[in-house]
Amino acid sequence: MGRYTGPSCRQCRREGIKLYLKGERCYTPKCAIERRGYAPGQHGQVKKKLSEYGIQLREKQKAKRIYGVLENQFRIYFERATRQKGVTGENLLRLLELRLDNVVYRLGFAKSRTQARQIVRHGHIEVNGKKVTIPSYQVRAKDIIAVREKSRDLEFFKEIAELGRTRIVPDWLSVNYDTLTGEVLRVPNREDIDIPVQEHLIVELYSK
Ligand code: SF4
Repeated sequence: MGRYTGPSCRQCRREGIKLYLKGERCYTPKCAIERRGYAPGQHGQVKKKLSEYGIQLREKQKAKRIYGVLENQFRIYFERATRQKGVTGENLLRLLELRLDNVVYRLGFAKSRTQARQIVRHGHIEVNGKKVTIPSYQVRAKDIIAVREKSRDLEFFKEIAELGRTRIVPDWLSVNYDTLTGEVLRVPNREDIDIPVQEHLIVELYSK
């Protein structure tokens, strides 16, 4: 599956909020939203009133950008969400949240979802004892996600283990930074997913 390869900060500026795509930099004054908190481009500083469609579109773009998913794949997630029981918008966010790259990020094994994706791709992560290199792999309740034993001695993961201890891990996950191992205790509810997206607007957009 493809991924967006343009400038990350431009995506935040387009949405007008921090999407935390770059890890540590997002928490410093160097963040582009702190320095230039208006939309990119020649007319970025001109305030425009969005149409109903425009508002719905922005919500979809925001969700796609936060999870690093392109349009086709996002549409597939939406189709899957409609086939599941329950509220479609919540199902959609749950599917995105259960992507392996997102879980690796939530566990604190990476500083951003982009980095998590790279870590998975490079073969540093195993699920239930087996190497998984697919960032979109869907984890399930009771899955054990770990940094592979031979990767744990890398400087990067030693630093991550130290940094991770200061992180707040969501209630639906548990983590042990000594062994760089985490567990999916349960699938997340909407309240567990702290992303600033109104998912019902995405459902409305795709239902037109
Ligand atoms: Fe977004 Fe992070 Fe760039 Fe700030 S530094 S604009 S939060 S990606």
